[in-house]
Amino acid sequence: MATAVAPRMFKNFINGEWVESRSGKAYENRNPANTDELIGLFVSSNSEDVDAAVDAATEAYKTWRLVPAPKRAEILFRAAELLVQRKEDFSKDMTREMGKVLAETRGDVQEAIDMTYYMAGEGRRLFGQTTPSELPNKFAMSVRQSIGACGMITPWNFPMAIPSWKMMPALISGNTVVLKPAEDTPLSSYHLVQVLTEAGVPRGVVNLVSGDGPNAGAPLSQHKDVPVVSFTGSTAVGRIIAQACAPDFKHCSLEMGGKNIIIVMEDANLDLAVDGAVWGGFGTTGQRCTAASRVAVHKDVYKEFVDRLVDRVKSLKVGDGLDASTDMGPCINEQQLKTVMSYVEIGKNEGAKLLTGGNRLDGGMYAKGWFHAPTVFGDCSPKMRIAQEEIFGPVVSVIPIESLEHAVDVANGVPYGLSASIYTRNVNRAFQATRDLYTGIVYVNAPTIGAETHLPFGGTKQTGNGHREAAIAAIDFFTEWKTIYIDYSDKLQRAQIDNV
Ligand code: NAD
Repeated sequence: MATAVAPRMFKNFINGEWVESRSGKAYENRNPANTDELIGLFVSSNSEDVDAAVDAATEAYKTWRLVPAPKRAEILFRAAELLVQRKEDFSKDMTREMGKVLAETRGDVQEAIDMTYYMAGEGRRLFGQTTPSELPNKFAMSVRQSIGACGMITPWNFPMAIPSWKMMPALISGNTVVLKPAEDTPLSSYHLVQVLTEAGVPRGVVNLVSGDGPNAGAPLSQHKDVPVVSFTGSTAVGRIIAQACAPDFKHCSLEMGGKNIIIVMEDANLDLAVDGAVWGGFGTTGQRCTAASRVAVHKDVYKEFVDRLVDRVKSLKVGDGLDASTDMGPCINEQQLKTVMSYVEIGKNEGAKLLTGGNRLDGGMYAKGWFHAPTVFGDCSPKMRIAQEEIFGPVVSVIPIESLEHAVDVANGVPYGLSASIYTRNVNRAFQATRDLYTGIVYVNAPTIGAETHLPFGGTKQTGNGHREAAIAAIDFFTEWKTIYIDYSDKLQRAQIDNV
């Protein structure tokens, strides 16, 4: 007789141990491509769990900050090696947990590997400055100092990459971590924390509390012993986090929504532009902060481009991301699917021309998942809601444009400023666009997605609050400058007074 297998229970990681939640509650994490598949049970943490995690991180900070950075780096190098060894298993788990196709989840894990190696390398740099003093027999320098226990709140669309973008620069800089991953994707964060632990991160330096935003995320962002909060997610929640951080002047980094654009000029290589629009619009089911949810096409090539785009989109195979023939997986959950469906109705009511898709996929192989057909709207005007608001799903709005100036106006005419791209073979236009597009990232002859870990990542306007992730910019966020003057003249020397 077959016996039912109990679902695996995943706990919080606090002070070096896997522990139950004080709430005694747990929630289910299910595969969005097949909701019959239970990934596991994860604890629903509350403010007491957050307190315990912050206490552990605060205590561990006292010693971790004094570990030489090259020694901290050795642990990160080991963690990167473990990630390399387990990449395939972690990628498969990630596809089961959040639906994107295996090639993309391999990319997500690879991004964590890249970030971990990159930040480990920083352990032997973390450069400051030395500079001459204006006074004789005086030495001047600036050094980076760590800050303390960092709260990290992350979204589900890059479940390992985004936590790594925050944890690795924080750790190499000498800070400790409390991570609250997205409700829908705690398993990938669990794997990352497990790897760091095996690599030798000391007790209390990395802590993980799973759970929802209001019960676990909010107490973390408000906690008086958390001087740094790094958040990636929606603009609406980012605004709440910013307000929670303001009274205590916490360092607060917000990476939020996007409404990114691909501009296709009349001299573009159209094959390349179509490839870019399909990948940028429908990769990760359109659930990327950098997704190309708008495509602005010059009127001279509009019809030809749109015909080719629609043909390609119609041929995309939607399904389970573990199936090697699948091009696009499901939406993350029922709520996200409903949001996508509601925007399709909004687009139709606004008078946009539905060119393909526009419907939920259900029945047969889709019966147990949150699938939506890849959807293209044509003849959109730039002020339509589908061309202004972040949908976060497989919906692309195509907008006809008259000129580069017109395209740049359209591109900049949204509340967000994350990523933009232009397809042109005219170098003058390419440079003009890179200058005038007011976004954090610009691509030429490539889609809006595809960040590399050693370059700054983030956006303008309602996408961000001026900080950047990745690259040295991340180190800048997780450290503070300390300026040190050493006067070896043996007498009082007054700056600005004794040297004139
Ligand atoms: P979300 O804002 O709903 O949730 C993000 C995180 O915030 C989750 O961990 C959630 O539990 C937590 N949270 C929710 N309410 C909270 C509260 N009151 N206090 C504290 N924490 C709270 O976003 P999501 O649906 O997980 O992710 C999608 C969004 O993330 C999109 O808007 C996307 O553009 C954005 N995103 C931005 C970037 C970027 O770098 N700019 C990258 C990836 C995703």
